This record gives sequence, C-alpha cells and structure tokens, in this order.
Amino acid sequence: MKFLMPFLPIALIALFIACNRPGSAQPKPTVAPAAALATAPPVGEKLELSDAEWKKRLTEEQYQVLRESGTERAFTGAFWKEKHAGLYVCAACGAPLFESTTKFDSGTGWPSFTSPVQDGRVANIVDDTHGMKRTEVRCARCGGHLGHVFDDGPAPTGLRYCINSASLDFHPEVASEEH
Ligand code: FE
Repeated sequence: MKFLMPFLPIALIALFIACNRPGSAQPKPTVAPAAALATAPPVGEKLELSDAEWKKRLTEEQYQVLRESGTERAFTGAFWKEKHAGLYVCAACGAPLFESTTKFDSGTGWPSFTSPVQDGRVANIVDDTHGMKRTEVRCARCGGHLGHVFDDGPAPTGLRYCINSASLDFHPEVASEEH
C-alpha cells in the first residue's frame, strides 16, 4: 500500500474537483411538480397491505415509524437539513406528500413543512397518547404514520407539519425550472 501514498494528494484533489463541479450537487429538475402529481396515485385511492407485506417493503426503522407510530431521534434523519428543491413522497407507498417550497427550518431537528402538497394527501387524527393532545398526521393513501401537525408554524398557514425523515423519500428531479 505504501507505494500508493504519493498519489493520495492527487486523488483527493480529483475528488474535491468532482464534488464541486457546478450543478453536480443537485440534479437538474426534469419533471414539473404538476406533471408528477398528475401521474401519481390519485387522491382518495387507498393502499392496504398486511403487516407481513409492510415488513418486506420497509426497513426496520421505516416500519417502526410508519406502521408503529415511532419517532426518529431529532437531528438524525436524512432530511431535516435538506435544502434542495424537490418532492417528498411517502416512503411506504410513494404518494406525494410535501414540496420543498413549503419546507422551513423549524430548529426541531425534523423536516418541517407549512402545508401538504395537495388537499387529501395527508389525514389528521387526534392523538392523546403520552399525556398530550396532539394531531397525528398520516399518509392518506396507506395510513402510514408521518408525524404531527402543530399550530405554531410560519406564514402562510401558521402550521408546522413535523415529519419523520424515515417516513419520506425525496425526489429532487421533481421541481420547477426556476429553482
Ligand atoms: Fe403512504
């Protein structure tokens, strides 16, 4: 291995250049949000699977959050500091849930949004577990637990959808050209 050492600085410089090429961090948007919504599973459609089928489809962490209403630790998920443009979909069923245009930094360590991408994409459910009265948010299509919604969010809605990264997949190719 010793004979490779002189090449290490060159390799590191090459890696640095590759990672800092303009546009390399964010794929160019290739799908308009309206087109993505038009081809997504329609609002109102339901997906019901058995527990065994969900276990096959989801990672252990996704299963714990989505099917057992777990909560990932703050500041540990994949998307709490994601700033790129794109569409967030349900990690369980792929239904569109939130757009980056409504995402904001809540300082909580969880991805936070002011509104869902479309009416009917998320379902609100009263949650009085843990001695608190909260509003749970689920994917309207598959019933997967996403997080909670609070009324201390910023304009324009005043709402804060506090969502687990584990419940989301991110599609950076779905964005408006002007981003
Ligand atoms: Fe879903």
